[in-house]
Amino acid sequence: MEDYAAEVDLVTCIRCGICIELCPEVFGWSATGFVVVRESEGRPDCLEEAIRNCPADCIRER
Ligand code: SF4
Repeated sequence: MEDYAAEVDLVTCIRCGICIELCPEVFGWSATGFVVVRESEGRPDCLEEAIRNCPADCIRER
């Protein structure tokens, strides 16, 4: 299975929650209200959709 690694630039993230709505397998909220990237095996299809729809264009794949 292909592994993925994504990161969110928290400086430009506007915390709209779209990535979490579109791809909860990868993205979630931290206790302090910032976006966190979950560790997981495989690369869910929704990751691409979240990257495309992020209004701040702040999700990157490493
Ligand atoms: S979609 Fe982009 S701007 Fe919105 S919460 Fe996710 S990373 Fe932040």
